Amino acid sequence: MRFTDRVCIITGAASGIGLSTARRLAQEGGRVVIADLDAKKAEAAAAEVISVGAPDAFGTVCDVANEAAVQATVSETLHRFQHIDVIVNNAGLMSFKPLDQLEGDDWLKILKVDLLGAFYFIKQAFLHMHGGGAIVNVSSIHAEETQPLVAPYAAAKTALLSLTRSASLEGKPRGIRVNAVLPGAIDTPMLWNNPNVKSGEEKIIAGDVGQPDDVAAVIAFLASDDARFVQGAAIRVDGGRLDRL
Ligand code: NAD
Repeated sequence: MRFTDRVCIITGAASGIGLSTARRLAQEGGRVVIADLDAKKAEAAAAEVISVGAPDAFGTVCDVANEAAVQATVSETLHRFQHIDVIVNNAGLMSFKPLDQLEGDDWLKILKVDLLGAFYFIKQAFLHMHGGGAIVNVSSIHAEETQPLVAPYAAAKTALLSLTRSASLEGKPRGIRVNAVLPGAIDTPMLWNNPNVKSGEEKIIAGDVGQPDDVAAVIAFLASDDARFVQGAAIRVDGGRLDRL
């Protein structure tokens, strides 16, 4: 029970990797805040994590691209639970367009969710996590190798690793550990809705597809005291996919 008495905010937790992570932290005693775009889905996810053992949980609408919404989520959490111990920056968005058709606004849409969303929560953590804590950022193997049509996503996920390093350095004196995971192909709606996967441009063999719980297990490790000396790390969770020639 590594998260007993810990308050954990997980963004994008109404689906996929975020929901698995919420379940995992709940099963280990955590109080869980599900921050996602849709109220009904966030509330349903909160009910689900209570059913698997969370002593308390709530769902809240939070567009991570909006700093005021992030502040409101943090205030609501502090009002309800008095402290915050873990933040998982998992909410993510992908788009598919060739570079010669991308506009600045297309870039900003992705960067605001995949990069600034994490920054807004890290800023709030530094302002309010007075007892120290742990932050886990969900990057992607697209930070290391990528495909055509996803330039803003690949750039945002690479920058998220850089932000992880910066936040790790500035977090250490505050007792806040900041680490990242780089999932490979994970069996969630995001993977199967990916047009590159649908068209066969991105080939995925069955043995390369992991489950959301595989990523949740690594996130839970990084968020727990088992990882108390792990700071600024980026852990690939891809079943070895990137190692193949
Ligand atoms: P998913 O589509 O199942 O879930 C993503 C969740 O994020 C959804 O509930 C969605 O509503 C929420 N979300 C999107 N924009 C948001 C915003 N602005 N504010 C708050 N919530 C928002 O996807 P997933 O596969 O579970 O993805 C989770 C994370 O894992 C993402 O950051 C994604 O980039 C990363 N990732 C996924 C894979 C994969 O193969 N599935 C691989 C590498 C990285």
